[in-house]
Amino acid sequence: MVNIDEKSVLDSVAKTLFIGGKWRSASNGAVFKVEDPSTRLTIAEVADATAKDASDALDACVSVQNSWANTPPRVRGEILRRAFELIVARSDELALLMTLEMGKPVAESKGEVAYAAEFFRWFSEEAVRINGDYYTAPDGNARVMTLRQPVGPSLLITPWNFPLAMGTRKIGPALAAGCTVIVKPAEQTPLCMAALMSILEEAGLPPGVVNMITSSDPGAVTAPLIGDSRLRKLSFTGSTEVGKLLMSQASGGLLRLSMELGGNAPLLVFADSDLDKAVNGAVFAKMRNMGEACTSANRIFVESSIVEEFSQRLATAMSDLKVGRGTQDGVQVGPLIDQPAIDKVTSLIDDATSKGARVVTGGSKLDMSGYFYSPTVLVGVESTWRIAQEEIFGPIAPIYSFSSEDEAIAMANNTNYGLVAYLFTENLNRALRVTEKLETGMIGLNQGLVSNAAAPFGGVKQSGFGREGGFEGINEYLYIKYIAINHKS
Ligand code: NAD
Repeated sequence: MVNIDEKSVLDSVAKTLFIGGKWRSASNGAVFKVEDPSTRLTIAEVADATAKDASDALDACVSVQNSWANTPPRVRGEILRRAFELIVARSDELALLMTLEMGKPVAESKGEVAYAAEFFRWFSEEAVRINGDYYTAPDGNARVMTLRQPVGPSLLITPWNFPLAMGTRKIGPALAAGCTVIVKPAEQTPLCMAALMSILEEAGLPPGVVNMITSSDPGAVTAPLIGDSRLRKLSFTGSTEVGKLLMSQASGGLLRLSMELGGNAPLLVFADSDLDKAVNGAVFAKMRNMGEACTSANRIFVESSIVEEFSQRLATAMSDLKVGRGTQDGVQVGPLIDQPAIDKVTSLIDDATSKGARVVTGGSKLDMSGYFYSPTVLVGVESTWRIAQEEIFGPIAPIYSFSSEDEAIAMANNTNYGLVAYLFTENLNRALRVTEKLETGMIGLNQGLVSNAAAPFGGVKQSGFGREGGFEGINEYLYIKYIAINHKS
């Protein structure tokens, strides 16, 4: 556990907007409050941007777009590499800051800081590999030449659940590609993004290449930007509902889009699985980030012959988890983000129990000052209920039973979402067969974690489109220019 004074960490972060390389207040002087979800106390007051501030940020992007695009890839990469090193060097302070504004235990925050840093390291290496092509067309005369060029000024909107990594996963590839950006972090967690701006500044990023606006009324600052013809790209991570709204706004300017949206991940446990691995994987896939992850295992499908044993073992593991303020030693589960999150989880549990589901462990809000909810296992749940169809975003593990492989696949695919699925089996043929039939962008095979900066993260169906990380991630910020050449003319 880190031992750094909380106040000094909070004091060290700017609470203002970052526009054109300058830290400044909102043009009307307004601020909004940020609270610690484990105490409900205000920990900071942050500049509340106006539409004018947002427009200033786009002015800044536009003014340096060409010079940044023409900055040698090696130089762009080296700035990202320095930022990676600074994040690693400050990982204790950043982790504490993250825990204070978001609630996750410090050990998990440290994990996110390391994951976030990796995107800068990975894309510092990708910046120098933006290649094109040159080849002969089938007629033998024409030559096809292609270049990949930056799409231009980009708006990056991020959620509160991974306050740093969801930012670096967009900023890294955008800067590597030669795009300038405006980042709009979630109103619950603006402080980590402000700390990241300082790091990029210190790493030598020229003024205006990265800008940050914070707002308590996100639509009021982003809608005018999305409607501005100088903006070329919108990358959004957040709920499917807001993603759809932003897509409709972006249709006016036909913006390039990346949409990383909600999930309703199935986790399949077959009788031929290694049960220790399956229970550990389920706890991890369910409880990472207190269940507040797009990748969280929302629906646990267990083969009927082992459902009793699995449920008991999962309930024991879940009830052993220590819940508390994320800054305390040994805490494994922090608070939920806010009161609406508690209300949502409570209403899903009430709905399921009123229809006959049984609570094996947990099932209630905890009598503590913050937004704490007990790790919960539910059995006897049915696929048509709200808890099966909506994103839970909390520490609830509903268990369903299946009796055949086909039934398990059909139940897993019975959702509008398609981000990730987890599969536990020791049978290689089954693993390959089921993997191919699951309608998701990612699969965790015998493991409860898929996140990796070197891998393409993203979904299908209403979990969105586009990929972040991996070799694919930089393509979201590049377009292909084809040059037609007739060799014989
Ligand atoms: P949210 O959609 O409420 O907010 C996400 C971001 O959009 C925030 O910055 C918010 O301020 C902004 N926003 C909200 N309303 C807006 C509007 N009208 N116009 C412009 N911006 C607006 O989501 P959230 O509660 O912050 O995050 C949780 C959601 O994010 C979950 O659905 C989760 O699954 C999803 N998520 C997806 C991924 C992924 O990679 N697929 C990763 C993390 C989180």
